[in-house]
Amino acid sequence: MRKLRCITLILLFSLVLVACGGEGDTYLYDTGAHTHVYGNRYDVTPETCICEGTQIRYCKICHQAVTDTVAVPEDIAARKHAFSDTVVAPTEAEEGYTKRSCTLCEYVIERTDVIPARYALLTDAATKTEAPNGVSGILMSDTATHKLSYSVGGEGAVSPVIARRLAVALAITEELERQGTALTPETLITLVSGMGEGNSYTVRELLYEWVASGDIDVARGFAMALDGSEAAFAARVAARLEKLGVLAQVTVDPFAPEAQGAATLHATGVMLARALDVPLLCEAFSNAVPGLVRIAGKKPALYLSVGGLRISAMKTDAGVYHFLLLSGENAPSNLENTLFLAVL
Ligand SMILES: [Zn+2]
Ligand SMILES: [Zn+2]
Repeated sequence: MRKLRCITLILLFSLVLVACGGEGDTYLYDTGAHTHVYGNRYDVTPETCICEGTQIRYCKICHQAVTDTVAVPEDIAARKHAFSDTVVAPTEAEEGYTKRSCTLCEYVIERTDVIPARYALLTDAATKTEAPNGVSGILMSDTATHKLSYSVGGEGAVSPVIARRLAVALAITEELERQGTALTPETLITLVSGMGEGNSYTVRELLYEWVASGDIDVARGFAMALDGSEAAFAARVAARLEKLGVLAQVTVDPFAPEAQGAATLHATGVMLARALDVPLLCEAFSNAVPGLVRIAGKKPALYLSVGGLRISAMKTDAGVYHFLLLSGENAPSNLENTLFLAVL
């Protein structure tokens, strides 16, 4: 009996081998009638954001293949884009960011990893927003972080005198920095009006004088030497302000009396942050500090007090400038000492 069962099994096994052998397959078992049991799907053509894909799956029993189409999702954000990143560096006035865009379609994710504009003055939770007594506006920051330790009254109007001096000085030093320029700090410029008419001075000397006095005759000398006319030079100065992003807040005329025009405290602060990034202007600022002025026992790197606006800066051993703008006719005279001692 046992022998018979064995023979039957061997016979059955042979039948299976014969049945499969005809197709050149290696199945060892008759698959018979069955419900297909499908395994994983595999990509034949992966779908992209613009093309549908195809996937294939096989029955685990008979290996029958079934292909499916994978549609492109309707939601454009959910599609399978092929992203690549373009880093857009910040400019003086505009923030920088990473632009992530699809190389296959037009889909763009803008402004990830945003970096502030290069001369933006930044606030955070630690920024003090209450002004000391007698002060109507105050900004305090440094050239390493641009973070404001004090920010009060930034949008308030202040005397445009300092903004005018900074605007012209920045226009001149931009020309000095320009590739291919013939202008150097040692270039001689002949004044065309005023006390110094007919005399020649270096650009450096005239910048020193301009920062300290805002003398119209110096502006005229620069205008004739650089642009040949006052109008063209005024346009150059306006373009410089626009590049820095403060043209809407600052109206100054290099050839008009100093008190004419308008400026906000914040825009003046942005111009100052930019100017402190120019070594030649820092030189001019320190040259313009009146001899007896001391802040926290030291000669400041900058001290200008005109028209109810006082600006000052102290340079650290690491070469960083901490700067302060104070507006208000009644600002206590020793306030710079107190405020700089706290940060230096
Ligand atoms: Zn099957
Ligand atoms: Zn795409």
